[in-house]
Amino acid sequence: MFFSDRQDKWLVMRRAFNLRCPNCGIGKTFEGLFKVNHVCSHCGVRFEREDGESVGGMYINLSLAEVTTMGGFFLIQALFQPPWLPHLIVWIIYNIVFITIFYSRSRSLWMGISYLTGGVRRDDEETD
Ligand SMILES: [Zn+2]
Repeated sequence: MFFSDRQDKWLVMRRAFNLRCPNCGIGKTFEGLFKVNHVCSHCGVRFEREDGESVGGMYINLSLAEVTTMGGFFLIQALFQPPWLPHLIVWIIYNIVFITIFYSRSRSLWMGISYLTGGVRRDDEETD
């Protein structure tokens, strides 16, 4: 069964953010934090077709990690002027934890973007 919700970008991206298949919203894109499912267990679309597609998700993950880290660092620095070394260490730890926890969501979001641009489909589906 194949659904076509490609026109509803927010629905697709919300499904992807919730680690669900961008096509049907039922199958999971990930098991746990790091194990990616390559094919949807419900509708059968292949999430990542090309080698190296996961790099797009890494860009999302690292960009958000750096923006929130730098923003948080300078905001706290401006408001409270904490001693810089423990402050720096806290934000380095935050950065590592963020990247680890957000890894699956960022890759899943990339699958959503890929879906909206036609890169996620079933193996037997015709391409235009
Ligand atoms: Zn699916």
